[in-house]
Amino acid sequence: MYVASETRMTAAQEPDVAQPPAWNPNQQRAKHGGVVVLPVQGNVYVLAADGANITVQVGRDGILLVDASTGQMNDDILAAIRGLSNQPIRWVINTHVHGDHTGGNEAIFRAGSAMPQNRIGSGLNFPGSLPSGAVIVSNETVLLRMSGVTGGQPLAPQAAWPTLTYIGQGRELYVNGEPIQVLHQPNAHTDGDSLVVFRHSDVVSTGDVFSTISYPVIDLETGGSINGMIDALNGVLGVTFPAEKQEGGTYVIPGHGRIADEADVVAYRNMVTVIRDRIQDLKDKGMTLEQVKAVKPTLDYDRRWATASWTGDMFVEAVYRTLPPSLATAQR
Ligand SMILES: [Zn+2]
Repeated sequence: MYVASETRMTAAQEPDVAQPPAWNPNQQRAKHGGVVVLPVQGNVYVLAADGANITVQVGRDGILLVDASTGQMNDDILAAIRGLSNQPIRWVINTHVHGDHTGGNEAIFRAGSAMPQNRIGSGLNFPGSLPSGAVIVSNETVLLRMSGVTGGQPLAPQAAWPTLTYIGQGRELYVNGEPIQVLHQPNAHTDGDSLVVFRHSDVVSTGDVFSTISYPVIDLETGGSINGMIDALNGVLGVTFPAEKQEGGTYVIPGHGRIADEADVVAYRNMVTVIRDRIQDLKDKGMTLEQVKAVKPTLDYDRRWATASWTGDMFVEAVYRTLPPSLATAQR
C-alpha cells in the first residue's frame, strides 16, 4: 500500500519522464518542416535533416543528442526535438569534426542548458565564464581542430566548440538512467571518431565510420585510414547483437542513410575488407596508384556504393595511400 502510493507520487512529480516508445512507426513518425523523426528503440530516436543523422535520447534528465547536422535547419531541428520532449537539451556528443555533424553545435548549445552538476567540469575551455548551454562532448582532436589549435584557423565560433573532451579509449556517461559509452575509433574516418553506445536502449550511433549509402569516406587531411576504418567497423560489431534468428537486435544509426542492424554492418565490413585486400595485394606487387586504379578493384561494388561525391576511384586512392608499403616494395 505504502509502496504503491509512493510510486504514484513519484510519477506525479515527474510528469515529463519519457516512457520508452512502443514500436509503432505510424504513430511515432513525425515531420517538422524538412526534418523527419523516427523512433529507433528504447528511448532513442533519429532525426533525418539536411546533413548527417541526429540521434536523440530522451528521458527525465533531459535530452542528449549525437551530432548536430549542418546548422542550416536549426529551427526545424529544435521544433522536432520539442515534439519529443519539453525537457532541456543537456548534452551533444560530436562523433567527429565535419561540418555536416557539428554545424548546428552553436544553436543547440545556446538552446540547451547543462545540468548543474555538469557545469563545473565543462567550464575548462571557457576560462572565466562557465558555459550555461548544453555540454558538447567529443574526442580531444575535434576541439583542437574547431578552435584552430590544429590547422591554424578556427573552424567555428567558440560557442560551437566541445566543452568536455576525452583522450584515450573513450568516456562514459550516465544519462536518463542509461549507461552511454563514447568509444574512440582511432584513425578511421578522421582521427577523432567516436561511437556512441546506448546500452539500455540497445542502439549504436556510428558517425561516419558506417554508412548505408556510400563507400566509407576516408578523410586523409584529418587522419583517416582504411585499416582504422575496418577496425572501427569491427568495433561496431563488438557492441551489436543480432536478435534470435531474425533481423533487429541492436539497431545501428549510421552517419548517413537508414537505420541498420548488425547484419548490415557485417556485409559492409566484408565489402570494405575485400576491397582493402585486393588493393593491398596489388600494392604488394609493386603497382603504382595509377596502375591500381586501371585494374578497377571496386568495379563489382560500384553500382551499389559509389556516389558522385565519393567515387570508386576516390575510395581506391584513399585506401592505396593509407595502406602501409609492402615489404617487397620497401626492400627494392
Ligand atoms: Zn564526416
